[in-house]
Amino acid sequence: MQFISTRNPQHRVGFGAALRQGLAPDGGLYVPEQWPQQALQGLDADTQLAALAAQLLAPFAAGDALAPAMPDIAAEAFNFPAPLVPLHQDGGLSVLELFHGPTAAFKDFGARFLAASLSRLHGSGERPLKILVATSGDTGGAVAAAFHRRPGIEVAVLFPKGLVSPTQERQLTCWGDNVQSFAVRGTFDDCQRLVKEAFLDASMRQQFELSSANSINIGRLLPQAMYYVASSLQVQRLTGGKASFIIPSGNLGNSTACVWARLLGAPIDAIVLAHNANRTVPDYLQQGVLRLRPSIATLASAMDVGNPSNLERLNALFPDAAALGSAVSAVSIDDDAIRARIRDDYQRYGAVWCPHTAAAAEAWARLPDAQREQRNWVLVATAHPAKFREIVEPLIGRSIAVPENLARLFERPVQCTEIDATLASLRQRMKG
Ligand SMILES: *Cc1c(COP(=O)(O)O)cnc(C)c1O
Repeated sequence: MQFISTRNPQHRVGFGAALRQGLAPDGGLYVPEQWPQQALQGLDADTQLAALAAQLLAPFAAGDALAPAMPDIAAEAFNFPAPLVPLHQDGGLSVLELFHGPTAAFKDFGARFLAASLSRLHGSGERPLKILVATSGDTGGAVAAAFHRRPGIEVAVLFPKGLVSPTQERQLTCWGDNVQSFAVRGTFDDCQRLVKEAFLDASMRQQFELSSANSINIGRLLPQAMYYVASSLQVQRLTGGKASFIIPSGNLGNSTACVWARLLGAPIDAIVLAHNANRTVPDYLQQGVLRLRPSIATLASAMDVGNPSNLERLNALFPDAAALGSAVSAVSIDDDAIRARIRDDYQRYGAVWCPHTAAAAEAWARLPDAQREQRNWVLVATAHPAKFREIVEPLIGRSIAVPENLARLFERPVQCTEIDATLASLRQRMKG
């Protein structure tokens, strides 16, 4: 299988090259050239996630050097579960828990798949691959965890000093070894600018073999389609019908993966994108014109995106707002509604949501009655609430038990380098 740039199908590369490059040379994003049909043949609700991923991802790697390793890569990436937990006894509403990985958010799946793939692509004689990640929270932790102690690969995580939650900061700075954490005196935008400048800087490129691991990399997106396939098969077995997903969305990586799962033939009906107060996508679908804007800070901070990069991938399939609106719908949920939903659902069901998942729960409550009753809805729980305990605990009036994997991270010593928001400062402190 070949992957083509969203901007120009002349840019065609194989699976491994698409993963290594991240971005296509014309600035576009890589997408699969075709969608293999009959991909789901022989799979059922009992198939384990790793086995399902090995089978479904094989056609995408066909013809590439990574193809023979696909079962091992899938086994490494999908070594924790994505359980579907009923919230209502009749099966009409359930929760897909994507937070059982090392950093307790769904990004662990994609980051682990990418790490397992890149470490196999990187020859032992080559100079180390240097992965640069700018993060406002969750991405950096998942990437650091996935690449920690992998030979031949080094990671530099850049986050805005003082602008991530204390719990998030622990996850970004607890690594050491081949992971360097930089607290940048600036904003998230400064961190992103530094990464871009590093990629464009000739002397940096000479000194380091640079690569990126954010959600423009198709190596993070394709594996995310797997839990949608698996859980929709489970819903089908339980109810006889298709699954409809409500997905907390920011940069649209997770929701693009769900659309892709449906293209692969998974029994998926409606897809609803639950955005926070960053309204770019809901407004685009409603008004028909795309107005990009600066992001605004919300409680669901991992979704604070005003210019979602993966919209380009969705537009490659659905070229305008009308076409996209027939494939997905989108709503915007503000901070007050997120707070109220966390409080209410704790009282009603004893459910404890992270602020992102709460946006999905609120989107469900706002569905027209007929839709809510007729479809088999799945709320996608993108992070464990303990990651956002500073926000959630005061709302529910009790403390949240920290899952074991997170607790282990919190015990590790903090290692962090503070730098100015300049390339010179980064270059000077970066190990090489
Ligand atoms: C990254 C993230 C999101 C948003 O996912 P996208 O793929 O960027 O749309 C939602 N919730 C949590 C907890 C996240 O970390």
